[in-house]
Amino acid sequence: MFIIALTGGIASGKTTVGQMLARKGAYVICSDQLAREVVRKGEPAWSDIVGHFGEGVLDPDGEIDRKRLADIVFADADERVFLEKATHPRIFQRMADILREIDADTGGEAIAVLDIPLLVEARAGGMFDCNLVVDAPPQLQVGRLKDDRGSSEEEAWSRINAQVSREDRLACADFVIRNEGTLQNLQDEVDKAWEAVVALARKAGQEGG
Ligand code: ATP
Repeated sequence: MFIIALTGGIASGKTTVGQMLARKGAYVICSDQLAREVVRKGEPAWSDIVGHFGEGVLDPDGEIDRKRLADIVFADADERVFLEKATHPRIFQRMADILREIDADTGGEAIAVLDIPLLVEARAGGMFDCNLVVDAPPQLQVGRLKDDRGSSEEEAWSRINAQVSREDRLACADFVIRNEGTLQNLQDEVDKAWEAVVALARKAGQEGG
């Protein structure tokens, strides 16, 4: 199996790129989805989070209110570190389990794509066969956060500035997918990146025997 990490800043277009890659035949695993699963009521991470932040972070059903928690951790780096320690190892464990299943089902032939928004923040940039970075100009990220998520300009910038810099993210890229035009432009970028990745996966397969 060839494992690609897909990353990019907030609202850069990772999910859209993941969907395009899935249509090409990649097995796409979304770490945001896993992040939601590991904090469900009753899971160990849920207990750790409620124990630390208190019941004020719960919604009326007793589930974690992710917006409320995000507001706390975006305003306080230590709290963010706590949350990452409570969730990241569990997310990576789930990922490993899913990858094992895909590997068994495909006889090792799959190209898997892990959508990991915080790849660089988690210092996981060296863990995978190849890193794909979706890159969008910050002004476009802000526009999407305002239009699609109802963020204010100030909120949008503070979310972007809480992440690693665009330069640091690009420094870990094997391939960059530029998302600064239309969806068709993005599809063309994805087509090019997929071709390169398939060639790399073939080469790695041959070298591996
Ligand atoms: P998040 O960091 O919040 O998970 P993301 O990086 O996964 O976001 P997407 O959800 O793929 O980003 O894209 C953000 C929004 O911008 C979506 O509504 C998506 O449809 C839109 N979008 C992405 N790329 C383009 C594009 N090239 N043209 C028009 N809209 C786009």
